[in-house]
Amino acid sequence: MDSQRADAAVSGPHTLEIGALEPDVLEPDMARVLILGGTTEARLLAERLATRGALDVTVSLAGRTSVPVAHAVPVRVGGFGGASGLADHLKAEHIDALIDATHPYANVMSENAAAAARQTGVQFMTLRRPPWRTGDGDRWTVVDDTTAAVRALGDRPRRVFIALGRNDLAPFVTAPHHFYLIRSVDPVDPPLPLPDVIYVVARGPFGEAEDRALMHEHRIGVVIAKNSGGRAAYGKIAAARTLGIDVVMLRRPQPPAGPAVESVDDAIAWLDHALTFVATRGV
Ligand code: NAP
Repeated sequence: MDSQRADAAVSGPHTLEIGALEPDVLEPDMARVLILGGTTEARLLAERLATRGALDVTVSLAGRTSVPVAHAVPVRVGGFGGASGLADHLKAEHIDALIDATHPYANVMSENAAAAARQTGVQFMTLRRPPWRTGDGDRWTVVDDTTAAVRALGDRPRRVFIALGRNDLAPFVTAPHHFYLIRSVDPVDPPLPLPDVIYVVARGPFGEAEDRALMHEHRIGVVIAKNSGGRAAYGKIAAARTLGIDVVMLRRPQPPAGPAVESVDDAIAWLDHALTFVATRGV
């Protein structure tokens, strides 16, 4: 499950640096890489790059969750202040390569990253895990956003398992006739003004058996999910298939234009190529 921290987040373009290397201890020809994170892939990429020499790698987290997962490289926390704030950061930190490894639904950050890379000429690439595809027995309704997901639930009271972020929950308040089971990494605070809701605070990964048991216990009839891809969040989708339960799936936003890969291996191959280009160009 993806994870970030909130306690250290401060507003403004330049926020907290955790364990960042002082510029004067960097080797002068060290390539500087910024990974926009908050995902398993970002963490794994950082872990792989941390073992390589001649690279100064930082992961950036938004600060959405209270306890971040540990990373193998220095982490900075908090927003940059839009695309221009990120562009300023890239210049100030002499970043050579920017990798957007944020969650597929973090499309504001992704668009800002693409714009900042265009403004600064910094090498830029998106690492995004492939989406899940439907298989035999899946009963998906694909919708554009959470408002459409609420509409898809209909007028008849249903028992709904919501597996979305805390920031995605507001539209469900307009449909108080359903029962909701809401699972999130941090507590939903304040709780939603809904008459029939149970909160589960838990961090994945969640397996199929575990999610099947949870859904069975609460007599769930429909799951609301994002098409996150990967294995850590797939348990509920597999469980819904086994139980013959409907899934209302939020459509993935379009990724920004530009180079994109789906695996950590391919991201490393891209980075090697990009940094060779930077070195040849003499930037
Ligand atoms: P978002 O809506 O695309 O971004 C909103 C703002 O949050 C951005 O404009 C940026 O602020 C800041 N931000 C987002 N990601 C950041 C990062 N990695 N480092 C620094 N600032 C960041 O983002 P979101 O959907 O809320 O996701 C926030 C974070 O949670 C991302 O890192 C993402 O990978 C992770 N996450 C998201 C989801 C999801 O379903 N959306 C699920 C799991 C994990 P400024 O404009 O001030 O720079």
